[in-house]
Formats: sequence, structure tokens, C-alpha cells
Amino acid sequence: MDDLLTTLVNKGLRGETPTRDEALEVLRTSDDDLLDVVAAAGKVRRQWFGRRVKLNYLVNLKSGLCPEDCSYCSQRLGSEAEILKYTWIKPGEAADAAGAGVRGGAKRVCLVASGRGPTDRDVTRVSETIAAIKEQNEGIEVCACLGLLSDGQADRLREAGADAYNHNLNTSEATYGDICTTHDFSDRVRTVQHAKSAGLSPCSGLIAGMGEKDEDLVDVVFALRGLDPDSVPVNFLIPFEGTPLAKEWNLTPQRALRILAMVRFVCPDVEVRLAGGREVHLRTLQPLALHLANSLFLGDYLTSEGQAGQADLDMIADAGFEVEGTGTTTLPSHRRPEEGPEHVAVRRRGAGTELPPNA
Ligand code: SF4
Repeated sequence: MDDLLTTLVNKGLRGETPTRDEALEVLRTSDDDLLDVVAAAGKVRRQWFGRRVKLNYLVNLKSGLCPEDCSYCSQRLGSEAEILKYTWIKPGEAADAAGAGVRGGAKRVCLVASGRGPTDRDVTRVSETIAAIKEQNEGIEVCACLGLLSDGQADRLREAGADAYNHNLNTSEATYGDICTTHDFSDRVRTVQHAKSAGLSPCSGLIAGMGEKDEDLVDVVFALRGLDPDSVPVNFLIPFEGTPLAKEWNLTPQRALRILAMVRFVCPDVEVRLAGGREVHLRTLQPLALHLANSLFLGDYLTSEGQAGQADLDMIADAGFEVEGTGTTTLPSHRRPEEGPEHVAVRRRGAGTELPPNA
């Protein structure tokens, strides 16, 4: 155990990826070792992100009424889950909602719309929304999460001022067909690649707790690592009544922490975000998760009720962490190619080839 954690910390501090077996071992550690695992992954987290916590705020532009059949989703085709259903909200309404998040300390607003993917007209609507949000909130980052993108749409979003695009891989390629039949894993990979080539900061994550095996979790996190996203949201399934996964209550707070630790070791210098289901599954252990993730969604998100924003801010302060301000860049300098040729060169040589100045 000690050897495993020493190896993982040393690799993490150098930005190196562990082996699949090492990642699997993290998931299979016992509850007796949990605090050692959290402490080890916490060292890696602090190396790259200090004690900063980035806050993100979700604005749902369009909810429900989706033609796709993702089995974990309350907005899926035929879902009987009791959620709000509405079509596109107006740019001004979205900007007002975004303002509430910004006042709560969020530095990124995530614009989410249900559906397989946007039409070109939808991209125009979202572009207007981005303009309205940026006009009212100086320095805010905007991420769009609109589903599968067709050719040219990522470029249009970038031109409209979007900073990032989110599209999750969710689960391993081997089990993707079990959770969705209307699109496949490669569709999702392609959209992340489109976003990245358009210059949008790629954000792509997973959902744990859908009945997957340890190997599937490791596979999806290594697949994510291969796509090299800047941020990785980790969702824990909320089994909504009225969806096929309504009975999948198979996570414990300890397991959720081990999953987050594994993601941190595999993606050491990447923004790891606590996303859906954190209150439901981590419960009173949420503050420990701050030692692993460096980012979270503030307050309410998507179709489920999150903690009120103030409770999150209190938790962050009580746990000895600090909210990251808009003047601070989230990612370590070697992951920011815009900072000049020196940093680009480091990135091209690959993660793990250079220690940060404070290593
Ligand atoms: S495409 Fe998105 S909104 Fe539609 S069912 Fe799948 S996850 Fe839900």
C-alpha cells in the first residue's frame, strides 16, 4: 500500500500517468486505507492547484424533451422523471441567471441544453446568449454544453466568444452501448476533438455509479486522458425515478472518494470537477473531496437540487480552501500554450517531462 501511494504521488508530482493496474489498485483499496489515499492524491492536487477551488455555475438553456435515450438521464426520450421541461430561454434571462452564479463566486458559466446536438439556428441563439452574458459579466468564462456538434459549429461558438466546450464520455467504450443506443462512444470522442481543434478548451468527464466495473472506470478515465481535456467533471449517478437506472444505488461516500482519487492520479494537472450527485453520494464526506477535486459546480445544477451556494462557500472555507478568483488562471502554466513558445514546447514534449517551479 505504502509503495503504491509513494509511486502514485511521485508520478503525479511529475505530471505522469500511472499504469492501469495502479489506477485499478486505487479503486480496490480498503476503507482502512481511505485517508491515506486521500492524503496522497491531495499532495498531487496541491502541487498543481494549491488550495484553490474553481466555482462553476450551470445555466440550463433548454430542459427535457430530448430524442436521445441515455439511460442515466432524466431528460431522455420517454423519461417519466418529474423535471422542468422548457425550450430555449432568452439571452437576457440566461444572462440574469449567469449573474446570480457570478455573484456567488463562479468564474465559469456552463450553458447547457438538452438534445442530441444543436441546429445551426440553435448555435445562433447560443451565440447571442454568450454575447449577453459576456457583456454583463466582465472576465467570465463561458462553456457551452450542447451535445454532438456538426462540422463548423465549434468554430462558430469559438467566434461567438465561447471559451470552452463540454461533452462527457460518461463511461467506457465497452459499456457505452448499454447506456445509450441513439449515439455511440466515437460520436462523443469526435465532438470533443472538434471542440479542441476549434480552439475551445475541452471539458469532458464521466458518470460513476451506473453499474460499471472498476475496469470500466479506469478505461473511461484513460480514454479521457488520451483526449487531453483541460477539465474533467466527475458525476455520480443520481438514479432518477422514471429512468432505467432508477434502482442503481451502488455508490458509497468512500467509493466516491476512491474514484476521485483515481481520476486525480490519472489526470494530475487537469481541472478535476466535482459535478452531479456530489451531495447525494459524498454526503458529509464532501469536504474530503476538496483534497482531490479543484473545482465544483456551485449550488443548483441541471435537473437536480444542489446545496445552496452559501453552504458550498462555507464548506470550502471551513475545509481550509479558497475560492479561485477571476484574476487567477486555473491550469498550471505548462498547460497554457497561449503563454508563449516556452510553455508550448513543454506541452509538446509531453506531460511529466518537466517539474513545475515549486516541485
Ligand atoms: S443527449 Fe443529453 S439530454 Fe439527451 S438523453 Fe442524452 S444526456 Fe440526456
